Amino acid sequence: MTEKENRVVQGRMVTPKSLAERIEDGSVMDAEAIVDADRECPECGGPVVSVGYMPSVMEFVTGYKCQDCDWKATDRE
Ligand SMILES: [Zn+2]
Repeated sequence: MTEKENRVVQGRMVTPKSLAERIEDGSVMDAEAIVDADRECPECGGPVVSVGYMPSVMEFVTGYKCQDCDWKATDRE
């Protein structure tokens, strides 16, 4: 993992896995690199980052997290 993959979210440095775990509110098996999502936070209008992760072997989820506030979401139905 390189430093480039880390991002600052709500003033704290996060790795792809730690960000995924905050979105999931639990442990995840694996996470891809954090990327800028092409959307604004619906709560505060701040920048949103996204991360693809695997909460379990059978599931792949794309999670979204605002960099400025507590807002988060996933692409689950
Ligand atoms: Zn926000």
